[in-house]
Amino acid sequence: MAGWLRRSWRKFARAYVFICAREDAKRWQLVIPAGAWVCQRCPHVSFDIARLREHYVFAHAF
Ligand SMILES: [Zn+2]
Repeated sequence: MAGWLRRSWRKFARAYVFICAREDAKRWQLVIPAGAWVCQRCPHVSFDIARLREHYVFAHAF
């Protein structure tokens, strides 16, 4: 029973991250600099390697 819920949540969380990144970029007129790290498995963008590792753990390690 918890399986589909977890899958739905992850799908939602991924969409949320994607929307937030787009909104933030729009808000700050952000151009992604050369030092940005883009996740290889989803549209998530981090601005340092530690954050990207954190993202991998929370979003893709399970
Ligand atoms: Zn990712």
